[in-house]
Amino acid sequence: MSEPVEIKKLDEAVINRIAAGEIIQRPANALKEMIENSLDAKSTNIQITVKNGGLKLLQIQDNGTGIRKEDFEIVCERFTTSKLRNFDDLQSIATYGFRGEALASISHIAHLTIVSKTCNGICAYKANFVDGKLQGTPLPTAGNQGTIITVEDLFFNMSVRKKALRSPAEEYQKISEVVGKYAIHNAEVGFALRKSTENNDIRTPPESNCVENIRLIYGNLIARELIEFQLENEPLKFKVQGHMTNVNYSSKKLIFLLFINHRLVDCQNLKKCIDQIYSTYLPKNCHPFVYLSLELDPVNVDVNVHPTKHEVHFLNEEQIVEAICSALESKLLNSNNSRMFYTQA
Ligand code: ADP
Ligand code: MG
Repeated sequence: MSEPVEIKKLDEAVINRIAAGEIIQRPANALKEMIENSLDAKSTNIQITVKNGGLKLLQIQDNGTGIRKEDFEIVCERFTTSKLRNFDDLQSIATYGFRGEALASISHIAHLTIVSKTCNGICAYKANFVDGKLQGTPLPTAGNQGTIITVEDLFFNMSVRKKALRSPAEEYQKISEVVGKYAIHNAEVGFALRKSTENNDIRTPPESNCVENIRLIYGNLIARELIEFQLENEPLKFKVQGHMTNVNYSSKKLIFLLFINHRLVDCQNLKKCIDQIYSTYLPKNCHPFVYLSLELDPVNVDVNVHPTKHEVHFLNEEQIVEAICSALESKLLNSNNSRMFYTQA
């Protein structure tokens, strides 16, 4: 019989790196967190620059409130946040962020630089962060109001993760999906995404609208076949609105954009159910484009179930999915009938 192996506590740095790797699984996760921070900071313009699928460089510049010089000291420490003050706040949280983990996590697995200027600051300040800690003191620098966050060499200290990731082209694709979806959901904010060496891939103007941004990002073939969708349900306490393609449009791939309480999330149930409905009306193996913004009473949503906050759980999920799907189907049918009528006339 062999002896048991001694139990030892892991190094702080290793613990933090493991936790960070759970939250940030790929460049697109890091970017999503940073976009949400920019939106939380009330930005109206967000510009993103990417090199090598975000692995070499991921930079986001916004024109939001900025970060105060005094806060640089702790901004990247774990569990430091300007958004959540006590546990009960979790119930009414109206911002994207709430647990102060994103920047901390990024600083454990990448080289992180922040430049930021507030409206009252005389100049911008710039600093580097390593393992959650500010390096030196923030240095005064030139800069516009807002924040530039630069993430370089993501996963430089996680060689396995780096190897497991797909090609830079695929990572870029994921990044571009995230940016496009947030641009559609936040049409009042201007978004731009580009590779460092090329022109913009995505560019939406500030104060645009949802359909116009769908056109800019997914093309006219989709934009010209959209049906607007709206539903409010008192007993189940939810509101949903969005745009979906009519039966004239179909594609090999389902495009499904879902925001729950303004957070980009997945809901497999709803996705399957919607695809199922369309399958009756579209040719075999064909799928629609559907964008939905679902608003639930925050009391009924648990945003805290998953480290990436990708998945949310909510009360009465089954009934809500059913209610949405049946309303969506009648809307689809209606538009279909009026179309046939129109063609016959
Ligand atoms: P959380 O968003 O959960 O609070 P983060 O780690 O994402 O945690 O951010 C920590 C804090 O840094 C935020 O609470 C916010 O005060 C500040 N911050 C991060 N990004 C920005 C930004 N782009 N503009 C202004 N403040 C920011
Ligand atoms: Mg955040």
